[in-house]
Amino acid sequence: MIKHKVAVYPGSFDPLTFGHIDIIERALEIFDEVIVSIFVNPNKKPLFTLEERIDILKNVLKDYSGVKIDNFSGLLTDYLREKKIKVVIRGLRAVSDLEYEFQYANANRTLYPEIETVFFMPRLRYSYLSSSVVREIARFGGDVSKMVPQYVVEKIKNKYTNK
Ligand code: ADP
Repeated sequence: MIKHKVAVYPGSFDPLTFGHIDIIERALEIFDEVIVSIFVNPNKKPLFTLEERIDILKNVLKDYSGVKIDNFSGLLTDYLREKKIKVVIRGLRAVSDLEYEFQYANANRTLYPEIETVFFMPRLRYSYLSSSVVREIARFGGDVSKMVPQYVVEKIKNKYTNK
């Protein structure tokens, strides 16, 4: 039997950056299917609505066969159980990510012992990059074209000109 290896890459993706895409490309080398799933966090006010983030992911990732887009709220482990998926993908930029990711992976493992969290390291040039840095630069009208795909650059421009 050929195994179809599926993993979930959860995150806020507010907005999607080249760092996220780097992780997705690495994950696709190992998994047959990567479900990029937007976590809807009721405690955060996002820059992009869920619908806008779905639109961005769909457009930017449309040529990657093997990528699916989804979203969830509540516990990641409940979502994984429901989807019958046992592998979670996360990115590790620097040592600074480790503490949070370590807690998150261990909490998830406590709730769902069968799951495995797999970490990927982006190329060095993206290891400083985060959605919050992009949002901060964008807010003051800075150039984020080296950090996010052109589609996202345009969406950011629209957002700030329509405000
Ligand atoms: P969260 O709000 O859960 O941190 P993000 O969308 O910012 O969600 O990130 C989702 C995952 O992608 C996290 O594991 C994060 O460490 C990883 N990630 C974000 N930016 C990068 C990057 N530039 N390089 C590698 N991994 C990244």
